[in-house]
Amino acid sequence: MKIYNSLTQNLDEFTSINPKKVTIYVCGITPYDTTHLGHAFTYISFDALIRYLKFQGFKVTYTQNVTDINDRDKDTLQRAKEQNIPWQNLAKYWTDKFLSDMKALDWIKPTNYLFASREIPSMIKLIQQIIDNNLAYIVNGSVYLDILKIKDFDKLSKLSKEEMLQKAKDFEEDLENPDKKTPLDITLWKASGANQPTHIPSFDSPFGKGRPGWHIECSAMSISTLGEQIDIHGGGKDLIFPHHEAEIAQSEGATNKIPFAKYWIHTGTVYYQGEKMSKSKGNLIMVSELFKKYSPNAIRWLILSNNWRKDWEYKEEDLIKAQKIVNLIEYLSFHLRGGGTKKDTLEQFTQIMNKDLDTPKALDLLIFLIDKKQLSAAKKIYLTLGFKNY
Ligand SMILES: [Zn+2]
Repeated sequence: MKIYNSLTQNLDEFTSINPKKVTIYVCGITPYDTTHLGHAFTYISFDALIRYLKFQGFKVTYTQNVTDINDRDKDTLQRAKEQNIPWQNLAKYWTDKFLSDMKALDWIKPTNYLFASREIPSMIKLIQQIIDNNLAYIVNGSVYLDILKIKDFDKLSKLSKEEMLQKAKDFEEDLENPDKKTPLDITLWKASGANQPTHIPSFDSPFGKGRPGWHIECSAMSISTLGEQIDIHGGGKDLIFPHHEAEIAQSEGATNKIPFAKYWIHTGTVYYQGEKMSKSKGNLIMVSELFKKYSPNAIRWLILSNNWRKDWEYKEEDLIKAQKIVNLIEYLSFHLRGGGTKKDTLEQFTQIMNKDLDTPKALDLLIFLIDKKQLSAAKKIYLTLGFKNY
């Protein structure tokens, strides 16, 4: 299989580190405002990849996280404060909503589904390794990764320093912190400080009380569950910088094993009404709302009819069309019989998917098979792509 790798910016032949085994880490949600169609697009795209790897005979070990805490005050912590409820309750509420939506879409649940707040020891261990390797410094109980000591701190994003500063600003990274040697240095551990508001959690560490940085969470959870080097690391493409660039710098800085992840896979962005779907723009399409009118299979069809790494615009007419197609497929495949599964049909499917996981083309093949009354073959492909068998 060839797959587009953001690290090499190339369609690379996929070969796993260990034969017939794949380790994959996909960055998970920050638990609020879940689950909008952008989330569903990312996680169902990876679901299709994982199902296809399994179809190819790989044993897949898959880790995904929940960023229920991080070094910034916004996100879950800030919202919990605004709503005057404990942050743990808010994180659990939105995570449960996400998991139930994804279950309805019939995703394969990750082998390891981890809450950052429960994995602090592995983060502390990794930070200590980075300090021992002389790549980090401590000021007032906070720990920072010294990016000037990191060779190729652009190997994934290929951004200039100016572009990095702009992106970091967009993500509200703590650029003006006077304790940092350079603005782009990465916060590995944020000290609680004497005046920390009470709604923000605090954990004990050898560096003092505090909480982990956002980026170190994923490095630590990936290494603790999948090992120092993994096959695939994924997420939405907006995570390339600073999050994933930081993960590489931290992980390779701690373990000295290069590469941390062999293939970096980034999904495209979903637009609605001409803008990226986001809470701040007020243009979120929630999956739970779609369930009121459309079946999970129709939503999966809509998602897989878009190339996983391209941006696309949600239009309801496309979902209506998807619903009609899945209704027809389900009626024909499960109420009629016939056609047999020809070997060359499955080979055709494999060829299509082996070219960068081309699910839109695979769906075209499915429609073609239905048209030709090759119903058994169509059903086999339908189920391999993760559609539910009604
Ligand atoms: Zn992450």
